[in-house]
Amino acid sequence: SSFSEFNLSDEIQRALMDLNYENPTEVQRKVIPVALEDKDLVVKSQTGSGKTASFGIPICELIRWEENKPQALVLTPTRELAAQVREDITNIGRFKRIKAAAVYGKSPFERQKLELKQKTHVVVGTPGRVLDHIQKGTLTLEQIKYLVIDEADEMLNMGFIDQVEAIIHELPTKRVTMLFSATLPEDVENLSHKYMQNPVQIEI
Ligand code: AMP
Repeated sequence: SSFSEFNLSDEIQRALMDLNYENPTEVQRKVIPVALEDKDLVVKSQTGSGKTASFGIPICELIRWEENKPQALVLTPTRELAAQVREDITNIGRFKRIKAAAVYGKSPFERQKLELKQKTHVVVGTPGRVLDHIQKGTLTLEQIKYLVIDEADEMLNMGFIDQVEAIIHELPTKRVTMLFSATLPEDVENLSHKYMQNPVQIEI
């Protein structure tokens, strides 16, 4: 099977060729068609499975370049993962000129603030710093249509539950939410029950 089965735009298919992604991984085969239909998703999968592109590809496909405010928010537990996701999204969205920004702690707030003032389609960040930008008015959420909670179990293990919930409360309720987690302990299940609508469950 190849990526052509998803009817992706030429811009996205060209980017995948440049990345040498010839065939979708299992998580991509299962997630991409569901995400393209704007359905909520709970995905149990490990890192290394290609999960970043499984949400990166549909998000880049569905984003409207013309819109000036951020349309997708990706929450990650660590700075390293935020930087990696930002890079992957930039690569996948290259020929659509999709702009992704990463915001995380221990990095200058002012520089991130300036970056967020530019046209930004996707914001990737750690919960504390994302909340900081929301509270200081430097991150606008009114056009967010896609929320990704990446490595949800790690995020909750690190004590980010209050920040994650505070962020979700600021988001438009009409949105698509995708949650990725290597394990599905009770607190992660609770999060999905509380904030997602009949999520499609995918296990890899
Ligand atoms: P991830 O699980 O998102 O951290 O991805 C693991 C690695 O697989 C990364 O280095 C990706 O660039 C790579 N990758 C993701 N999807 C594909 C694919 N369809 N074909 C080849 N490599 C891929």
